[in-house]
Amino acid sequence: MWRDWQVVRKVQVAGDVVTFVVKRIDDRLVKTSLPGQYVTVRMRMPDGKLQPRQYSLTRADDGEHRQFSVKRVSGEGDDPDGEMSTLLHETVGVGDILTLSLPYGDVVLDDSGRPVVFVSAGIGISPMAGMLSHLVAAESGLPITVLHADLDEASFPLRRQVVNDVLALKNARMYLWYEKGAQSLEPVDGVFEGLMDPTAVDIPGDALYYLCGPLPFMKAVRSRLIEHGVAARDIQYEVFGPDLWQADLD
Ligand SMILES: Cc1cc2nc3c(=O)[nH]c(=O)nc-3n(C[C@H](O)[C@H](O)[C@H](O)COP(=O)(O)OP(=O)(O)OC[C@H]3O[C@@H](n4cnc5c(N)ncnc54)[C@H](O)[C@@H]3O)c2cc1C
Repeated sequence: MWRDWQVVRKVQVAGDVVTFVVKRIDDRLVKTSLPGQYVTVRMRMPDGKLQPRQYSLTRADDGEHRQFSVKRVSGEGDDPDGEMSTLLHETVGVGDILTLSLPYGDVVLDDSGRPVVFVSAGIGISPMAGMLSHLVAAESGLPITVLHADLDEASFPLRRQVVNDVLALKNARMYLWYEKGAQSLEPVDGVFEGLMDPTAVDIPGDALYYLCGPLPFMKAVRSRLIEHGVAARDIQYEVFGPDLWQADLD
């Protein structure tokens, strides 16, 4: 299940987010990932213990590489900084070896041909970036709507890649919500100030929704969509941590 990869690229993609590209260093085939899946990265911590953490794949496979993005977790108040994200940001660089699992995850892009809506905030863009990349590789003509919320343009992780992928798709639109003001230099279809209201834009009635972001964000967006008539079964979500939300769902 575990396999070593070499870091061939490490690039900052927002103030507190870096993207790693790793390349295979053996002759084994690379197991194809499904759009939306993640890998587990296993690292030895300063106390000597091996720790696992999950990171969504942010690009479709090419048989040689994997790509994922890591937000640096800073401890609030007396809480410690995140162990693995800090190590990845501070100590891992090009040429280093990282140990990754096979791709896993059940929140994957449906292949029914229905319109797709990606709804994300902050680092929650990661699985969406992966799914968009797969859609670009497939030259998909599906109606795709990307809704993303962030503090401002500089905070939006993977912005360049995501905007380019939206532009490369024949039938994709993108709308942004920035807390610090409705300013964007990107060629998107709409920019709003404040918190996301997914019902503010036109979306096909039979769309499937994929949500990822902080729990309060996902809860608010999901409630709004359900009030607006979207069936709960048409909304999938990925939680970046233990799924403490599951118990609340009807
Ligand atoms: C399916 C899935 C996909 C994911 N995809 C991504 C992704 O694409 N990109 C990404 O950046 N992340 C992703 N994550 C989250 C990622 O796996 C890690 O959880 C994240 O990087 C934090 O790990 P860490 O080791 O840095 O933090 P940890 O050390 O695990 O700390 C997490 C939090 O707990 C607090 N904490 C730790 N110890 C204590 C203590 N003793 N007392 C009080 N508070 C404490 C820390 O302050 C911090 O806020 C994903 C998670 C899942 C489950």
